[in-house]
Amino acid sequence: MMIGKKTVVVIGGGASGFFCAVNCARLNPELKVTLLERSSKLLAKVRVSGGGRCNVTHSCFDNRELVKNYPRGQKELLSAFNRFSVAETIKWFEDRGVKLKTEDDGRMFPISDSSESVISCLMEEARKYGVDIRLNCDVIQISHSIAEADRAGGNGTESVFKLSLVHGEPVSCDVLVIATGGRPKESGYDWLLSSGHGIEKPVPSLFTFNIPDKVLIGLMGVSVQHARVRIKGHKLESEGPLLITHWGMSGPAVLKLSAWGARLLNDLNYHFTIQVSWLPNFTEEKLRIDFEGKRRLNGAKLLSNILPEGIPRNLWEYLISKAGIADGLRSADLTNKQMNMLINVLLNDEYVVSGKTTFKEEFVTCGGVKLGDIDFKTMQSKKIPGLYFTGEVLDIDGVTGGFNFQNAWTTGWLAAMDIGR
Ligand SMILES: Cc1cc2nc3c(=O)[nH]c(=O)nc-3n(C[C@H](O)[C@H](O)[C@H](O)COP(=O)(O)OP(=O)(O)OC[C@H]3O[C@@H](n4cnc5c(N)ncnc54)[C@H](O)[C@@H]3O)c2cc1C
Repeated sequence: MMIGKKTVVVIGGGASGFFCAVNCARLNPELKVTLLERSSKLLAKVRVSGGGRCNVTHSCFDNRELVKNYPRGQKELLSAFNRFSVAETIKWFEDRGVKLKTEDDGRMFPISDSSESVISCLMEEARKYGVDIRLNCDVIQISHSIAEADRAGGNGTESVFKLSLVHGEPVSCDVLVIATGGRPKESGYDWLLSSGHGIEKPVPSLFTFNIPDKVLIGLMGVSVQHARVRIKGHKLESEGPLLITHWGMSGPAVLKLSAWGARLLNDLNYHFTIQVSWLPNFTEEKLRIDFEGKRRLNGAKLLSNILPEGIPRNLWEYLISKAGIADGLRSADLTNKQMNMLINVLLNDEYVVSGKTTFKEEFVTCGGVKLGDIDFKTMQSKKIPGLYFTGEVLDIDGVTGGFNFQNAWTTGWLAAMDIGR
């Protein structure tokens, strides 16, 4: 039998757990809210994200468009975003003095350009509403039982959770929120298996491609604004800016592909071939007509001096050479065979990828707690009443640009609303 304040424990002092904890405590002062964080640092990823500026969210106000940025969780997030989305996130922070601004690519940051504004705001909310924050509390096991409840004169049964920590006394609570983020290895979810929830195998998402090609890597720093990258032999492709780095290829086109293809590329052990179209707006036919026109009109010019729009000079010279065309060829002397080779290199340029590199350490996990086990109106488990999951611990992840934090805020908010009520 339990009498007194209802106790809520949130495991995980990241964006989602913190947002959930402060909103629970604010919405219902009758709750005793405790936040357990395994490390000695709170909001660690909020601090470092966006180069220390915190990419809070993405300026996208149409939820149907917004969910297209989540390779996993699209369907479930649509209903969640209809309750708490980008506009509500912006307002929540602005109401507490953190105004956001939008960059050209849609990413939103605090106008201070410092993640410290977001952290101070969340810390102040925790202080104001009395969230009990405990650091260095690594939860290693959860047990659950049902107890008779007699709170405020009512009778019935309620969940009781008991948490074992690496150090210190076990902690009990009536409501438990698990917001422990992603883990790259399956063993990272072992402690959750006893809760009976399914786990989708975790694999990394958001990485760049290693391409051991010395000549290509010689072009490091070269970028094109619009390329298409396809995984050879599969339907997966993505478009956007592409950057040549000192280890291979990066940029939004590659990162998006790594997210959408996270599982497939893991199955391929990160060894596969990509086909790059450097001119995705051109078909073979259109490009042939274009080259024939140039051959006619600019016949005296060197081929290397007739740059296709959007292709930097050093990349163009590299592609001409890759097509087997000698230096110093005049446009008029381009044979049909050479033209075909060049068109092929421009539209289907193949590279063997051998391994991956984490993008500015901004990886996320594809996989986690199965979404079918969660009620997305409340983020409560369908298996255990009183147990909630929020943030990246779920099988949800987005591409870069603020989408992963938006998932953390939204799911944290939904759980807080239900618990607070
Ligand atoms: C370097 C980096 C930069 C990023 N930049 C961006 C960005 O610019 N935009 C964007 O949208 N996303 C970004 N992301 C992704 C984003 O940070 C995450 O998706 C988001 O932080 C997930 O929030 P979360 O609260 O679910 O998990 P986390 O932020 O991972 O927080 C989970 C917390 O739980 C704690 N914890 C775990 N297990 C236990 C346990 N057993 N007991 C107690 N505590 C536990 C962890 O220590 C951690 O503090 C970035 C990620 C990284 C790594």
